[in-house]
Amino acid sequence: MVYIVVMYKRRLILRKICTLNTVLKSNVSIWSPLAEAFNARPMQKFNFRRQDVGLFGVPELTTHDGFYVLKEQCISKTDRLINEALTRPRQRKMVEIFDEMSDSLCQVADLAEFIRLAHPEAKYSHAAEAACCAVSGIVEKLNTNVNLYKALKDAVVKGDIKPNTVVDKHVGELFLFDFEQCGIHLSEAERNRVVTLNDTILNIGQHFVAGTASPRMVKKNVLPSNIRDIFVSDGDEILVSGLYTDSANPVAREMAYRIFLHPDPNQESLLNDLLKARDELAKICGFSTYADRALRGATIDDPNKVLTFLHKLSQDIWDKAKADFDCMKNMKMLENNVNGPLGTWDVPYFTQKAKRDWFRVSSKEYSPYFSLGACMDGLNMLFQSLYGIQLINTDVAAGECWYSDVYKLSVIHENEGLLGYIYCDFYERSGKPNQDCHFTIRGGRSLPDGSYQIPIVVLMLNLPVPRWSSPSLLTPSMVDNLFHEMGHAMHSMLARTQYQHVTGTRCSTDFAEVPSVLMEYFASDHRVLKKFAKHFQTQQPMSDDMLQRLCASKHLFTASETQLQIFYAAIDQVYHGKHPLRGSTTEVLAETQKSHYGLPYVSNTAWQLRFSHLVGYGAKYYSYLVSRALAYSIWQTYFERDPFSREKGEKYRRECLAHGGGKNPKNLIADFLQVEPNPDVLAKSLIDEIDYHQGQVDVVTNRRP
Ligand SMILES: [Zn+2]
Repeated sequence: MVYIVVMYKRRLILRKICTLNTVLKSNVSIWSPLAEAFNARPMQKFNFRRQDVGLFGVPELTTHDGFYVLKEQCISKTDRLINEALTRPRQRKMVEIFDEMSDSLCQVADLAEFIRLAHPEAKYSHAAEAACCAVSGIVEKLNTNVNLYKALKDAVVKGDIKPNTVVDKHVGELFLFDFEQCGIHLSEAERNRVVTLNDTILNIGQHFVAGTASPRMVKKNVLPSNIRDIFVSDGDEILVSGLYTDSANPVAREMAYRIFLHPDPNQESLLNDLLKARDELAKICGFSTYADRALRGATIDDPNKVLTFLHKLSQDIWDKAKADFDCMKNMKMLENNVNGPLGTWDVPYFTQKAKRDWFRVSSKEYSPYFSLGACMDGLNMLFQSLYGIQLINTDVAAGECWYSDVYKLSVIHENEGLLGYIYCDFYERSGKPNQDCHFTIRGGRSLPDGSYQIPIVVLMLNLPVPRWSSPSLLTPSMVDNLFHEMGHAMHSMLARTQYQHVTGTRCSTDFAEVPSVLMEYFASDHRVLKKFAKHFQTQQPMSDDMLQRLCASKHLFTASETQLQIFYAAIDQVYHGKHPLRGSTTEVLAETQKSHYGLPYVSNTAWQLRFSHLVGYGAKYYSYLVSRALAYSIWQTYFERDPFSREKGEKYRRECLAHGGGKNPKNLIADFLQVEPNPDVLAKSLIDEIDYHQGQVDVVTNRRP
């Protein structure tokens, strides 16, 4: 890694020259080197003497065959560590050996999983996929090693060769739980059943998710003739591929809703089988419901408390959401000249329309102020004030990246030096997954020699590619996403966990989104925006009027949007709660909608059959609401008064981010916010947020002509 240090020194020298230039051209504001770098495509340097360093600087990965070598190395290292764990006398604590094992497996699996998704060349993605499968095979074998499980259990429960610290015990229990998820502590017959059920769940889940997006074909004559042109037709059939929420025609929106969400028997039986298999799995493993099992170790670790939180929130939000719906109903009457009811299908349409008409927030007006360079400058400025760190654009070596358009950031602390690397794969390209995402490539952990294993992550976004006439210009929602993903990256960079098993974002699902949602509050604060939103040509800062409209528009109809999330979270809880259910999944949906959502269920529709998150989240969909409630409490307690406070930033880093998943989230929050995160506290936080932001919305809407 000597090479990187040298490059970084050179970079510092370049920065000095830039500072000199700034002084010489006094009064002429120029972009910072970071902004300039991100307002152009990543520099491609050709140096024929330079050797290919391999993907992420891993020397084996100068070729796709390297994945085979990594896999072999991983197998022999795992064998060596198993041996160490089972041999007496042991020199190291059990949890240290397990963490090293987990580290070597994750370093291959995480890197391979990322390359499988992101590498444009098939030979790489295939080799990476093979490596992923091989690591899964190793993990499966480990999970059935009864001697290893017993050795770990003894060390965690009875005590190890040296006393276990609180962190040792916490991480040790996480490893034990992973084992027990696979039924290792059960009889052979039960263990085999667990393996079968896990396979079934994986398999059904994949089919169900695939089915959630499939379009519907209907005969043309099902639709009134005046709206047929809105849809794609094929002969005498019409293809309905979504909800058409942006169509100005209310009949088209309604028809699309009824057709697209018409119950599909195949999806229904997949969902039933999935829920049944999960319930059986939970019961074999000693839990009363699947939700019980899923919530172990979470901030709210009891499904009853989740339901209490959702019910409380539901009650407190009812009238606020109703006010939103009344407002939309009014809009509908004005637009269509009929006094009809507001349909579920109308909500996204009028929310968008109000944003457009009342706040006049158009991408055309706003995007020139959000060049990627300006936004990166904003993040850098913010992190510098809060944590004393800088993001330094760093040259990539030959062969280090999977694609040419990738930037590499070194995260440098003013006293601690290099904290980690963030690779930024920001631009859209064909074949790239169309989802913004944070990937851990290498977790941080303390090494035996006292040094620290530097974390490496990738942020993947889908921003527009810079053109000859302009840099990449972001819409306001892309800015939110960039800040959100950077929140995850900072969790990875600023965590200083002893064990990689709990590095940065590897924490409970209902806490994992807290740092990223918190960043959205910074991105919606006019004082923060004012510092970096500058026109890419003139460098004029965004006007106060534009800032006010933008910030207010982000909070329009928050009550009705939150109510929808409550409804989704409640369905997810009920489906994964007590079985058998009190009726079909559609009957449960209708009943839950009645108690949690302000608009009625539409008969003969089955929205749950399109709800793909039931698979990925499985009883944890509430996490989004809890993360938001916690993030808002943190914002309100620590940053609302001064979003640039170093003192508060340091406290947040020390007491929240630094722990990664190494501290029980319930205790972490209780210590940091000085309040127990119970259902009442969490519900109140969200209601406070809605009330506070409604004030911002009212200021702008009252000004409306
Ligand atoms: Zn996120």
